Amino acid sequence: MPTKYIRLDRLISQFMGCSRGDVRPVLAQGRVTVDGEVATMINHVVGEFSQVMLDGQVLRNKKPIYVMLNKPRGVVSATKDDKQKTVIELLNRDDRDQLHIVGRLDFNTTGLMLLTNDGRWSRRLTEPKTKVMKWYTATLQNPITNEYRDAFTQGMYFAYEDITTLPAKLHIISDYVVKVGIVEGKYHQIKRMFGQFDNAVVALHRDSIGSLALDGELLVGQNRDLTKQEFDDLSAS
Ligand code: URA
Repeated sequence: MPTKYIRLDRLISQFMGCSRGDVRPVLAQGRVTVDGEVATMINHVVGEFSQVMLDGQVLRNKKPIYVMLNKPRGVVSATKDDKQKTVIELLNRDDRDQLHIVGRLDFNTTGLMLLTNDGRWSRRLTEPKTKVMKWYTATLQNPITNEYRDAFTQGMYFAYEDITTLPAKLHIISDYVVKVGIVEGKYHQIKRMFGQFDNAVVALHRDSIGSLALDGELLVGQNRDLTKQEFDDLSAS
């Protein structure tokens, strides 16, 4: 999802239906403000969420949106799908068509998903180098043994992509239930990690992303905006 930066002279010329040369005097006359400050430079670059005004009239004032969803089973992590219901279709909000997904969950994986219209934020959160830990609860078909822990911690080789997974964390809760923490999101990563032990994941649920956890109040299928505090904490990850 590209972040929408645009030069100020281009934005104004599009709005006024004139050439960029014609915009120079408009800027020089101090008729344009960006986020409340007079902007006179033609090469000033404005971000997606900057407020731009010309002669007191708003040209651009897009609000960033940050949403958390408690994803149910049987829903596709996509904005559009010809056959299956998508997570976007679960959102009972007017702004849903502006949103994209911050990291996918498989069709039958449940739990915390983030959606936003802020491409820069989602890119940063999903980059492995940002090292945001995502915690999952996995229920396995066969009992788990202690040897899993070393393999998860050391990283596992995925021949298809020719990569070794970054160190993951494993907390064994019971013979069949574990908490898994990973900082990346390779295709079916957790299922494939347990697959190396020939142990199938029968249920997978994402509990948290960085500092943000499902708190029990957001029921399955429900969504809400992040609070300012939640946004700040997560963005500082
Ligand atoms: N790993 C998986 O295998 N599936 C998910 O949905 C998320 C992580």
